[in-house]
Amino acid sequence: MDLSPFKEIIDSLQARQAILWQNPKKSNKYQIDSNLIDDSEARMNRFAPYFQKAFPQTKLHSGRIESQLQHIPHMQQKLGVMGKLFLKRDDALPISGSIKARGGIHEVLYAAEKIALEHQLITKDTDYTIFTTEPIQELLSNYTIVVGSTGNLGLSIGIMSATLGFKVHVHMSHDAKEWKKQLLRKIGAKVIEHSGDFSLAVDNGRREALADPNSYFIDDENSKQLFAGYAVAGRRLKQQLEAEDITIDADHPLYVYIPCGVGGGPGGVTYGLKESFGENVHCYFAEPIESPCMLLGMATGYHDHIAVKDIGLTNRTIADGLAVGRPSSFVGKQMEPLLDGIMTISDEQLSSFVRELYETEQIIVEPSATAGFIGFKQLPKAVRHENATHIVWATGGSMVPKEEQKKYILGI
Ligand SMILES: *Cc1c(COP(=O)(O)O)cnc(C)c1O
Repeated sequence: MDLSPFKEIIDSLQARQAILWQNPKKSNKYQIDSNLIDDSEARMNRFAPYFQKAFPQTKLHSGRIESQLQHIPHMQQKLGVMGKLFLKRDDALPISGSIKARGGIHEVLYAAEKIALEHQLITKDTDYTIFTTEPIQELLSNYTIVVGSTGNLGLSIGIMSATLGFKVHVHMSHDAKEWKKQLLRKIGAKVIEHSGDFSLAVDNGRREALADPNSYFIDDENSKQLFAGYAVAGRRLKQQLEAEDITIDADHPLYVYIPCGVGGGPGGVTYGLKESFGENVHCYFAEPIESPCMLLGMATGYHDHIAVKDIGLTNRTIADGLAVGRPSSFVGKQMEPLLDGIMTISDEQLSSFVRELYETEQIIVEPSATAGFIGFKQLPKAVRHENATHIVWATGGSMVPKEEQKKYILGI
């Protein structure tokens, strides 16, 4: 592998600076597969009556797993941002309290529906509250959903799978939090602990699933159904902005800042945003200084052939969900014409954004969820744009136990 053409960017990553990488391959020539998004959106709509019954907290959004778009004027003032700043509250998504509730849950629904259709227990016109009943639960209990995760994907998939009647095995990386493992065990999931990182947990899950024909592996590194579940967010955000009377056009651009781990969440959301807003949306990812896997993969073009450890970074960070050393190549390639850039952020800066958000808006999120705020330090022109709308995507936090949340705020 010849890294010499990328010496400058690799030097600055190794120096552990907070940097902005502008994507040179961004282009206005790209294609979005709207059928893929139509398909997942329609599936979520078919399951909406089920959710209202099985998870009454989804009634607020008519059985959709959706979050609020919240204006945060005090934080905006503190950061000195012009235009209008919103926080997308995926930290408070129903069922599992993180962005994983979009893609992860969608893929479990995809598997459940496919199996029920194959066994002719439903058609696509059936009232899907039937998924709460004995015959389907019994059928699904013959199948095992398998996933590898640093924690939040495991929670989303574990809760959803167990509720539908599936058996579920979650392969966890060494950095997964104890409370997440306990919660999963409590709902009946089997937790398999590994001493290695995220990629190793995924590898082990993949291997286990291959050996059992009645198992279904949810592949955070390659899955189209995960990606498609995240992408539905674009259309819904468009409706939310319209409801706020906010126009997005060439003179009123939209800037979106999203934390990135392996890439599926931010990549899928970006894909959906490009479908809805085209050239008028500018998407940026944010990654920890020790885990800039997507930046490294996209900047060198080596995608999943290179890992952060190859350039001497530790892949250790307080940002749960972002401690990923090797990116999804599927997502990295999709992002080449779409993404504006990627920024890196230190753990100290994540913690101070957590405290500032609490002090200004009384909102508590997990450290990962604040990574997008780094955009305002890196993009001075966007900050001064009077007609811009900015959205920082808060990706997790509401399921974190109160004791842990307190530690974030106190900075310990
Ligand atoms: C998983 C996760 C992300 C990033 O999603 P990827 O699909 O891994 O890129 C961001 N924030 C939180 C809190 C997460 O759990």
